[in-house]
Amino acid sequence: MAMELLPFNSAVLPWLTGETLFSLCSRHHRLWGFSNSSQSTEILFGSPRRGTQHDFPCALDVFADRTQGLLGSANEIARQRTVLKFYAPFRGAGEVQDAVVMMRSASVAHLKYRLGLLTSRFRAHHPLKSCPQCRHRDLVECGWVYWRGHLQYPGVWMCPEHKIPVQESALKATGVARFQWHLPAEEDQHSLEALRTDWMQASALKLATMTVDLVESITEDGWLSRHRFQAAVRSRMLANGWLLTSGRLRLEDAASSFLQHVRPLRRIPELAALPSSVEEAKSQLGRLLRPMRSGTHPLRWMVVASWLFDDVDDLRAELAHPSERDCWPEVNKELSQGATDKEDVRVRLVAFMSEGASATSAAREYGVDVKTAMAWAASSGISTKRRSKKLTAESLLSILQALQFGDDRNELAQRYSISSGTITRILMTEVGLHAQWVAARKARSRERARSTWLSLLASGEHQGLKWMRKLEPAAYAWLYRNDTAWLRANLPPAPKESARRASPAVRWDVRDLELSARVFQTALSLSKNGATTLRLWQLYQVLPELKAKLGQLQRLPLTQRALETVLTRRATSTSPSELL
Ligand SMILES: [Zn+2]
Repeated sequence: MAMELLPFNSAVLPWLTGETLFSLCSRHHRLWGFSNSSQSTEILFGSPRRGTQHDFPCALDVFADRTQGLLGSANEIARQRTVLKFYAPFRGAGEVQDAVVMMRSASVAHLKYRLGLLTSRFRAHHPLKSCPQCRHRDLVECGWVYWRGHLQYPGVWMCPEHKIPVQESALKATGVARFQWHLPAEEDQHSLEALRTDWMQASALKLATMTVDLVESITEDGWLSRHRFQAAVRSRMLANGWLLTSGRLRLEDAASSFLQHVRPLRRIPELAALPSSVEEAKSQLGRLLRPMRSGTHPLRWMVVASWLFDDVDDLRAELAHPSERDCWPEVNKELSQGATDKEDVRVRLVAFMSEGASATSAAREYGVDVKTAMAWAASSGISTKRRSKKLTAESLLSILQALQFGDDRNELAQRYSISSGTITRILMTEVGLHAQWVAARKARSRERARSTWLSLLASGEHQGLKWMRKLEPAAYAWLYRNDTAWLRANLPPAPKESARRASPAVRWDVRDLELSARVFQTALSLSKNGATTLRLWQLYQVLPELKAKLGQLQRLPLTQRALETVLTRRATSTSPSELL
C-alpha cells in the first residue's frame, strides 16, 4: 500500500505546526507536480474526489491506511486536523463520535446538517483563511506557505498572533475549485471590507483570540456544554445587574449592550445573522437563556462570551465554577412574559444614592437587587458600605488589599472559601479598585517576564537572542509587546559567527531589536564625540549593516522608529531616501 503513496520514491511529508489535513494533502500534490488534483487524490484517498473537502473530509480510513499511520490514526486526524476540532468541545461525545465515523467512511453526506450548521443561519461553508504575516513567516521558516487549523475556525477573522485581519481564499468558497488541492497564494486571497477600521478589528480580534484560546485548551468532547455556558452567562449577567437574584431579568438593558457589542461584528459576512436591532437582540438572548434547547451554533456562545468576559481566563474561570445560585424558573417566567425595565431607573437610583441613601434603601425604593445598586453607584463614582453575611470585616480588608496587589480572583476565592463571583463583585463595586487591580496585574507580569529574562541572561549560557527567545518564548513575547525599551537595553551579546551560520532562517523581530539597539548606541557615541546634527550617512559609516537594511525598513519597525528619533525628524515618511 505504501508504495502507492510514494511516487518518485518521495517520502511522506510530516505535519507542520497546526496544519490541517487539507493543507498537508495540498503540499503533497504540489510536491508531486501532477497537473490534475484527482491524480494526487487517487493516491491519497483511493478515489479521484473523496477526501478533498477542506472542512469535513471523508475517507480518512483509506488515508490513514495508505500513510501507514505515520501521520496518525483516522480518529486522530479527524479530531486534530480538521474543523471538527472547533466543534467537538461544544457537541456531545456521541455526536462527535458519529461525525468521526462518517469522516472515516466514504461519504460525509448530511454531516453539516446533523451538526446543526445548516439550520443555524450562519454560513456553513468554512472559507479557507490565511494571515499575510503567518504566510511570510512560514515561508521563511519552513519553506512552505500552508493552511493553519486555528485560522479556519468560524469567527476567526483576525490572526491572534499578528493582530491583523486574515484573508479569505476566493477558491473553494465558490465551488469552482471544489475538488482541487491548493495552498494559500497571494493572488487568491482577499481582505474583508469590514475589517478596514481599528474599532472593527478590535472587536474581531477579541472574538478570534478567545475562540482560539478556548478551543485549543479544551480536549474533552462536549465540555463546553449548553448547560455550562448558560450558567456562566447567567452568573455574569447577575454581576452586571441585568439579572436580579429574584430571577428578574432586565432584558432591555442587556439587549442594548449586546447590540452595541455585535454592531462591528455583524459586518463580517459570516456573522451577518447577529442581531441588528434591540428587538432581535432580545429575542436572540432570550433563546440562548431558555432551558432545554440544544444545537446552538458555537459562534453564538463565543460572541456572547466576547461580550461578557474580559478574556479567556475570565471565561474559563466562570465556566469551571458556575454560579452556585440558580434562578432558573423565575428567569424563564420573565422571558415568556417579555417584561422590561425602564431605562431611567438607573439614573434615578444613582441620583438617590448620591444624596446619601444607602444601597439597601435605594434598591428597595427602585425594586432592583442590592448588588446592582452598588455596582451602578460604583460605576458613577459613589462609594458604598458593604454588608456581607459570609465575610468578616478583617477578611474583606485583606481581600481588598490582595486585589490592590493584583492577586488572582480564583485563588482568592479559594483562600477565603467564597465564590469567585463574590470576589468579582467586590472588584467591581469598590470605586477605582478594578483599575488598580488591572495595573497591578500588569506590573506583576512585567516583573515576572523581566526576572525570567534576566536570570537567563545572567546564567551566561545563552547563545544569542534567537536562542533565548526559543527558551523563554512567553517572557520574550510579553517584553517585546509591552516593554520594548527595557528589552532593547537587556539584549544578549551577538552570538559567534559560526553559531549564526548554523541557523539561516531570518527572524525579523530579533534582527529589528538588535539593530534598533545599535542605532541608539551609535547615535549616543557620535553625539558624545561632538556631532550636533546627526545624518544618516554618519550612522551607517559606523554601522555598515544598517545601510544594507535600508531597503527593508518596512520589516524593521523598531529600527525605523529609532532612526526617526535619533535623526530628529518628524515621523511622516517610510522612504529611506528621505532620511538622507
Ligand atoms: Zn499571523
